Formats: sequence, structure tokens, C-alpha cells
Amino acid sequence: MRVFKFGGASVKDASSMKNVANIIAQYKSDKLVVVVSALGKTTNALEEVVQAYFAKNGETKKLIAQLKESHFNICKGLFDDDTHPVYDALSNFFVEMEWQVEEEREEEYNYVYDQIVSVGELLSTTIISHYMNSIGIHNTWLDVRDVLKTDDTYREGKVDWNKTSALIHEKVLPLLEKGIVLTQGFLGCTPENCTTTLGREGSDYTAAIFTNILNAESQTIWKDVPGVLNGDPRKFDDTQLLDQISYLEAVEMTFYGATVIHPKTIKPLQNKNIPLLVKSFIQPQDKGTVVGVANSEHLPAVRMVKGDQCLLTFHTKDFSFVAEDVISHLLDAFSKANFKINMMQNGAISFQACVDDIPEKIAKIKAVLASTFTIEEKHHLTLLTIRHYTDEIILQHKTGKNLLLEQRRLSTWQGLMV
Ligand code: ASP
Ligand code: MG
Repeated sequence: MRVFKFGGASVKDASSMKNVANIIAQYKSDKLVVVVSALGKTTNALEEVVQAYFAKNGETKKLIAQLKESHFNICKGLFDDDTHPVYDALSNFFVEMEWQVEEEREEEYNYVYDQIVSVGELLSTTIISHYMNSIGIHNTWLDVRDVLKTDDTYREGKVDWNKTSALIHEKVLPLLEKGIVLTQGFLGCTPENCTTTLGREGSDYTAAIFTNILNAESQTIWKDVPGVLNGDPRKFDDTQLLDQISYLEAVEMTFYGATVIHPKTIKPLQNKNIPLLVKSFIQPQDKGTVVGVANSEHLPAVRMVKGDQCLLTFHTKDFSFVAEDVISHLLDAFSKANFKINMMQNGAISFQACVDDIPEKIAKIKAVLASTFTIEEKHHLTLLTIRHYTDEIILQHKTGKNLLLEQRRLSTWQGLMV
């Protein structure tokens, strides 16, 4: 059994969907679970609906109508029959969303976000499921919310592994006997039957949950790049494909900012020693990258870039040393604000933290710490991380840049620069 995940870029229009169906057709004699994201940039468009809803600016209807039109247009490229049941199926989701926004009840932002944004995956999977069935690739559309159970942390649902595992065994295994199971990434469901999402780009993680629970032989993430490269090809022009990387290397890469795989994807696979294949949906016959049990000795320098960074510098007002108690006070504030530090350093009476530039979180930190510390902020910075570096490679990347903070460990170099 295998698990496939197709992201938004792979299903952005009718011809992309046909390509996805072609890839799936090659594997249709295997047991297969296919996890699909929302089409193209639909999730971003749905986020705009949520914003409009809370801004009460009267834009929601227009935005929803645009989404409906773009989804229907894709269907026109896939189905000859204008009365195909797919149109009714899609319309039902739009009607529900319209009801949701008409209610205008005072509800919590994150809850509303999940009820609206989740529709993207319901739409995309409805289209592709109908399309595949119409060309003879038989599949069952599974509402993932029937099996993937989470708590009620909206926008960041925490998976209830026990319940989810029991439900996947009970409901998905019998469906797999009949053919391909096609379902939504990114979504979950609370014990009260409300929809949750697992965090942006969370469909890779959904696939990993199925892979782990079903003990699949592998998980494949189909991408618009040839596999895992040693740098984002949009940022570096000398990238090369990594044929094999270890789970550890993949975790390190996602931690430092590689976006090719969602950070939560690796653990469920590593725990069961199941390989992750990252392959191109444009060149599906190519091997791509295998993430699994591998050693990292052969790897070239691997580079990760995080843009939009902010450097916070704290000085103790009373000149007390930044010793363990002070550091603990500082870290406690970051932890309570749920604010991840991307790099930190301390001196005698100062502490520096590089963070994503999120104004609300920075404000929270300042509110807690401003009485004890003077706080300086520097914005618009870039954090570059290089694994398996050489002196020459560091020099090449920092020449001409203004370096504000630098850290060198055995296998990882980081530089924060303007
Ligand atoms: N559609 C969701 C997003 O764009 C989930 C995903 O693509 O993995 O964040
Ligand atoms: Mg997406």
C-alpha cells in the first residue's frame, strides 16, 4: 500500500488535474490512498474571505462567487457534460459557505477560519474524484473528517492518534479493498464534529498520518521540483538534487526553513521506518529524493533561507548578568507568546534573539520584558543556514552582506544579515 500527496500546484487547472490522474493511473492496481490539497492558491483566497467576513466590508459574497467561478471553469475543462453531478456537489459546498458568512455571529476568529478555509480541500477532492471516476480510475471520496480526529485547537488541530487510528482501520481498510481512496489533506474534526485545520501546508502531514497508521510501504509527495534540492531553486541558481537524505537531515532542513516538506511530516514516517519519496509531477518517471535511513556524509552544502526576520536585542537595565535565571525569564516570555526563536546568543548583559517578524508576537514579548530590559529591534533581515558548510562556501554567501549575528557549529553555520 502507498500513500500519495498532491499539493495545490499539482492541481491548479484542468490540464494539471489530468496529469495527476495520469500519474495515479500508473499505480491503480496497488492499494493507494491519495491526499489532495486545495487547488492552486485557493487557501489564500479563502483566507481573504475570512478577513472580509471579520472586516464586515461586504466583500465576502463577491470573493466566494469568484472562487465558485474558478472551480466551475476547471470543471468545464474536465467534463463534457454541463449537467454532470460534480456541479451540484460543488454548489452544495458553496451554499454551506454562504450560510456560514451570512450568519454574522460573533464567533472566534480561528474557529470561523477553519470552517471557511477547509472548503478548499473539499472542493478540489470532489472535482478530482469525479473526474477520475469519469475516465475509469475508480476511487472512493472519503471525507477525512470522518476519520482524522483532533482537539479543538482551531488552525493547529492536535491529532488524536488513538481515535484516528481506530477509525482509519475501521473505515479506510475496507474501502481500500474496493480501490483507490481519495481524500483531503489539511483537515480534521473535533469531538463536537467541528472542522479543524492542521496548520498551513499541512497536507503533507495528513498523508504522513495515513502512512503511519496504515503501515504503508512508502509515502510520495509529488512536487513541481525534481525532489529535495540543496537550496530553494527560486533563491539559488546552482542547486542540485539530493538523491537520498536521512530523516534527521530532513528534519534539520525543515526546521531551518526548507519548505519542500512540511516539518511535521517526518516523525510519523521515521517512527515506523517508512521511506518518504519526493518526486516531480512534471517528470514522474524520475527518481526524485528518498528520505529514509541514509547517511549524510556525501551531502553537498545545503542552504536554507528565512526572510523577514527581526533581531531583538535585550540589555539588562540594572547591568545584572545574563545568567541562567535571566535567560530562563527571557525564554519563558517567548514560550508563553508561542514565539519560536530561530537563533539566539547571549553576552554579559545582553541577549539576542532572531525571530520571524510577527508584530503581534513582538508586542507581547515587549509588554512582558520592557520593565527589565531595554529592547532594540532590527527588521527586514535574512537568516541563512548552511549545513555541511565549508569555509569557502560561507565566504561566498556572506561576501558583500552586512552580518549582524553568526553562529558556527560542527555541521551547521548560520548568519543573520541585512
Ligand atoms: N491547502 C492548504 C494550504 O495551502 C494545505 C496544503 O496545501 O497543504 O496551506
Ligand atoms: Mg497548498
